[in-house]
Amino acid sequence: PEAITVQELANRMAARGGEVVKALFRMGVMATLTQSIDADTAELVVQEFGHRVKRVSESDVEIGLEGAEDTDTDLAARPPVVTIMGHVDHGKTSLLDALRKTDVVAHEAGGITQHIGAYQITVPDGSKVTFIDTPGHEAFTAMRARGAGVTDMVVLVVAADDGVMPQTVEAIRHAKAAGVPLIVAVNKIDKPGVKPERVKQELLQHEIVVESLGGDTQEIEVSATQRINLDKLLEAISLQAEVLDLKANPNRAAEGTVIESKLDRGRGPVATVLVQKGTLKQGDIVVAGAEWGRVRAMLDDKGRQLKDAPPSLPVEILGLSGVPSAGDNFIAVENEARAREVSEFRQRRARDKAAAAAGAGRGNLTDMLA
Ligand code: GDP
Ligand code: MG
Repeated sequence: PEAITVQELANRMAARGGEVVKALFRMGVMATLTQSIDADTAELVVQEFGHRVKRVSESDVEIGLEGAEDTDTDLAARPPVVTIMGHVDHGKTSLLDALRKTDVVAHEAGGITQHIGAYQITVPDGSKVTFIDTPGHEAFTAMRARGAGVTDMVVLVVAADDGVMPQTVEAIRHAKAAGVPLIVAVNKIDKPGVKPERVKQELLQHEIVVESLGGDTQEIEVSATQRINLDKLLEAISLQAEVLDLKANPNRAAEGTVIESKLDRGRGPVATVLVQKGTLKQGDIVVAGAEWGRVRAMLDDKGRQLKDAPPSLPVEILGLSGVPSAGDNFIAVENEARAREVSEFRQRRARDKAAAAAGAGRGNLTDMLA
């Protein structure tokens, strides 16, 4: 196996050189910062630092920056994160708007509903649901390609008057590839003469068997514009969420995914992030993609300023050094020095990947550490 210097290994883990030297010493290996160690030893050190060696794919290996895994007792229930997909004009936007209006928590004075790429509603029983509101398939594919398991389930909208169409099939494929369950919303049932039964038959051809035909895919007939059966759709989502038993540890440094970002004239870089683990706090120092900064302000989709954002809550954050990309991981870190290190690590990794893609060589763990 090829070798890596202690300093380089420290850089790649965004750790201090001295700490790596000490870890090696505890493992019985004497090495200075400029000396090289082999890849096997390097991997042990990586694990020693509590980083997971993530094998994203055969040719794409990265050293994860996450800390230790949460144990069962750390975990608490979290709201489901739902993505609505379907063919163009089948009513995705209308359904998102209609569902948003079912929120039982009244807007507080001063709060202005804003589009931040995702929103969370409270349903009558007090439970919450988060909807990802980014333009469909491309965002979903981009996030999945980056390994960001953002969504817990997909609501597949199929217009009863149009039936299964190419983007319906594509959405089914996306959901299957991501391994997330589907709920079918047969929309526009208010239209005269529509035949929702036909949709069920068409779905059969794509191995989606709805419950009324003896399968296990929930299917609800709705009208987004006439607001028919929205409560049933929300119940179906809650039921699916219960089956999935969704949990996260709220008591740790926040980690999640960038949903959307932009450069705002007045406010600077603005990112909407979905908190997936831990609680994000105003004032936290975060790294988002290769950008970093202190969370100066945090707003929800109702324009309210928040001090804390628990798992499954999408929030807009201000204070980053630049604009990260949708699908980028974000993570709260202990201090600015660490943020710089992680940011540099990620920039270097991005450069390495670009170089590797340009070159002939195929990356593996040994190559990456070499
Ligand atoms: P998207 O492209 O999937 O986001 O579809 P839209 O939400 O933009 O809806 C496309 C068109 O279908 C619009 O003219 C909507 O008013 C209409 N539409 C959406 N839902 C319904 C519905 O439940 N009933 C009827 N009659 N029209 C609907
Ligand atoms: Mg739309």
